[in-house]
Amino acid sequence: MTDTASPSSPVYGAVEAGGTKFVCAIGTGPDDVRALTRFPTTTPEETLARTVAFFQEQPERPVAVGVGSFGPVDPDPASPSYGFITRTPKPNWSGTDVAGVLRRALGVPVVFDTDVNAAGLGEHRWGAARGLDTFIYLTVGTGIGGGGLVGGQRLHGLVHPEMGHVFVPRAPGDDFAGHCPFHGTCLEGMASGPALQARWGRAGAELPPDHPAWEIEAHYLAYGLVNFIVTLSPQRIILGGGVMHQRQLFPMIRHRVRQILNGYVAHDALADGIDAYIVPPALGDRAGVLGALALAREAA
Ligand code: ADP
Ligand code: ZN
Repeated sequence: MTDTASPSSPVYGAVEAGGTKFVCAIGTGPDDVRALTRFPTTTPEETLARTVAFFQEQPERPVAVGVGSFGPVDPDPASPSYGFITRTPKPNWSGTDVAGVLRRALGVPVVFDTDVNAAGLGEHRWGAARGLDTFIYLTVGTGIGGGGLVGGQRLHGLVHPEMGHVFVPRAPGDDFAGHCPFHGTCLEGMASGPALQARWGRAGAELPPDHPAWEIEAHYLAYGLVNFIVTLSPQRIILGGGVMHQRQLFPMIRHRVRQILNGYVAHDALADGIDAYIVPPALGDRAGVLGALALAREAA
């Protein structure tokens, strides 16, 4: 199988359904994105109508559409609410049948999963997780969420993991109340983009690289990663999302992870190999939409 296609071979549709914006694309892979559009996430009706219109306007009809969605979602193909956004704090979106609307309007199979499982799949096919069967893709943005593959399967379970809501020990001297509406001081409550804004009164992008915010941020993210390392034993961890544009965080997080593990997990990947173990997405900010394209390819 190759990832570049002749004009007559099938094309695939991709939808990165974010809480802030939607990204839609058609193509076959990173080097063959034939059209791409972005628009803000408004009401479900308007946003899904724009998504449908994008695909209907294309000269080529996709053979399948992949959707990587904000959540919580129902990712179980055997469930009656497969492809729904289930119960989200985002106004109007609870109970939205995203996959069903697209399937009925476009008449093609729709493969649906969490945004982070999709991004992980994209990285597996074309990026930083090639050749691995157990790895995590964690986004640190408006929220914190994790997905990926375990034993070669997209990470699901009872519903899907909510890795952003693990509990992490406080950084010394930190008395921030936390920003998660459900748990206060969980990882997302302490380290998401909105948590940075609430803690420092400025968006993360406006804090200089040597600001004390980043030591604290690295502390919480490192504890989160250690929890995932000792439970899932991932072969690699990919850190994406807006906050991870702060590239100085990578060496700080790697250093803290080694400190916290204290040599307990005996593998070179967690010692001298750590620079290749905790990495940014090779697909950059396109991981989500290309991941949705990789999902669509799974349908075929
Ligand atoms: P989303 O999570 O909504 O899909 P992003 O991954 O872009 O979108 O995350 C948005 C969050 O990341 C916002 O809270 C924003 O303040 C923060 N963010 C975006 N860019 C940066 C940056 N360069 N440095 C720090 N934080 C950033
Ligand atoms: Zn929480």
